[in-house]
Amino acid sequence: MAQHVVAITGASSGIGEATARELAGRGSAVVLGARRTDRLEKLANEIRAAGGQAATLAVDVTARADLDALVTLAVTEFGRLDVLVGNAGISKIGPVADLDVDGWQAMIDVNVRGVLHGIAAALPVFERRRRGHFVTTVSTAGLKITPTMAVYGATKNAVRTILEGLRQESTEGWLRTTSVSPGYVRTELADSIDDPGLREQIRTNMDRFALDPAAVARAIAFAIEQPTDVEIGDITIRPASQD
Ligand code: NDP
Repeated sequence: MAQHVVAITGASSGIGEATARELAGRGSAVVLGARRTDRLEKLANEIRAAGGQAATLAVDVTARADLDALVTLAVTEFGRLDVLVGNAGISKIGPVADLDVDGWQAMIDVNVRGVLHGIAAALPVFERRRRGHFVTTVSTAGLKITPTMAVYGATKNAVRTILEGLRQESTEGWLRTTSVSPGYVRTELADSIDDPGLREQIRTNMDRFALDPAAVARAIAFAIEQPTDVEIGDITIRPASQD
C-alpha cells in the first residue's frame, strides 16, 4: 500500500514537480494536477518507470470543479486522499503604482482562490476519514515585504492566514496544516512575470543563488512524514545567502 496518497497542484514544473518526484520516490502515490498535461504525463511515466505510482489530471485551479475532480481521482485510483499540496501559483510582480489590475486579479484567482478550491474539495473527504493534511506553498515574500512584491506577498499571506485559521478551527486532532515559505527557488516562476526588466532581475537572482526545488520537496516530505499527531505548522526555507 502507498505510504501516503498525495494530490499536488502545479505539479508540471518547479517545486510541484520536485515534490512529486520526492514523495513518489519515498513510496507515496501522487496525483498530479496542472494545465500542461503533456508535462504531467511525462513526469508520471518517469515515476511509474522507477516503480512508483502516479495519476494525472488537467487542472486549472481557478475552476472549483477541477479540484473536485482531482480529489475524486485520488480516491478512485488509490482509495483515499491523505494530503493535498496546494502549490500552483503565479507571480505577476510589479510596483503597486503600475496599477496592473489584471495581474492582481490573476494572482488572487490562482494563488488564493486556487488554494480555497482545494480546501473546498478535500476537506469533506478528509472529514469523512477523520484524517487529512493541507500543505501549501506560500513565500518569504509574505515574511519580508519588498518593493514590487506587495500584491504577490499579500496573496501568499492571505493563504497563510487561511491555513492558520483552519488549524485553529480543527483541533480535534485529525487535520494538519502546513505552510511552506520558500525564498528564491530555481523554477519557471519568473515566466509569469510580465514586466521584462523585473523578469530578468528575478531570473538573475535565481541563477545566482536560488535553491534547487528538491530542497523544498524534502521540507514538504518532512512535514508529511511526521506521525499524524505532529503538525509542522510553518517551514521557512531559503538560500543561506538570501537577505
Ligand atoms: P513554476 O512556474 O515552475 O510552477 C508553477 C506551477 O503552477 C506550474 O506547475 C503551473 O502549471 C502551475 N499553475 C499556474 N497556474 C495554474 C492554474 N491556473 N491552474 C493550475 N496550475 C497552475 O514555479 P514554482 O515551482 O516556483 O511555483 C510553485 C509555488 O511556489 C507557487 O505557488 C509559487 O508562488 C511558490 N513560490 C516559489 C518561489 C520561487 O522562488 N520559485 C518562492 C516562493 C514561493 P501549468 O502552467 O502547467 O498549469
